[in-house]
Amino acid sequence: MDGKKLFVCVVYCLIMLWRDDPAVAGVVTKLPSKEEVVAITFDACETKTPSFFDNDIIDYLVREEIPFTIFVSGKFARRNSEQLTQLSRKSFIEIENHSLRHRQHMEKLSEDNVRKEVVECETIITELTGRKPIFFRFPAGNYDQRTLKIVEALGYQVVHWTFPSGDPDKQTTPERLSRWVLGKVQKGDILIFHINGRGYGTGEALPRIVEQLREKGYRFTRLDAMLSSPTAGAR
Ligand SMILES: [Zn+2]
Repeated sequence: MDGKKLFVCVVYCLIMLWRDDPAVAGVVTKLPSKEEVVAITFDACETKTPSFFDNDIIDYLVREEIPFTIFVSGKFARRNSEQLTQLSRKSFIEIENHSLRHRQHMEKLSEDNVRKEVVECETIITELTGRKPIFFRFPAGNYDQRTLKIVEALGYQVVHWTFPSGDPDKQTTPERLSRWVLGKVQKGDILIFHINGRGYGTGEALPRIVEQLREKGYRFTRLDAMLSSPTAGAR
């Protein structure tokens, strides 16, 4: 490589390093563990029509006392406030932030509106559960560097998932769902399902998934037991 090309290359690398903002911590999609442990997480979102908890899922997990995490949107939390409060009193259930109105593309919102989505949902969750959420999940997983930075500056760690379970697909069956998840799951994975009545087949598939993972020696965890609390907290 001649001197001129080398110079251009060095300048390009410096620009790329400068653009890669160290203030942005990034999105967690895996637990920092090499042990047989997975996090079962759920989205509880409400968009146009009223949504309620899927009690088949809740009854099973509560009966078995399996740790899990629910990302709730503010609208869903308000509509299901009593049940959410009750669930949050159980030590193995974690409630986290999934935005106020569940806008599918938060990257299209102004900075003020992104903050509002996060903070207003946080207020509702804190009032109902007595605990301030520390993890955030973007609606539909859509974000860009700008929205990520705004959310992190509010003191949140963004947590998504390792692979989609596909449970919002109306065509799916409990058999297909459990086969897909069990064929793919690995140590440290963050599983995602829906607990708002839009996880098709999840209520039936989940006991099979849990039992088979247990047979393989897996245990289950809340996210906050495995991921350190974010420190950004600029407010
Ligand atoms: Zn959602």
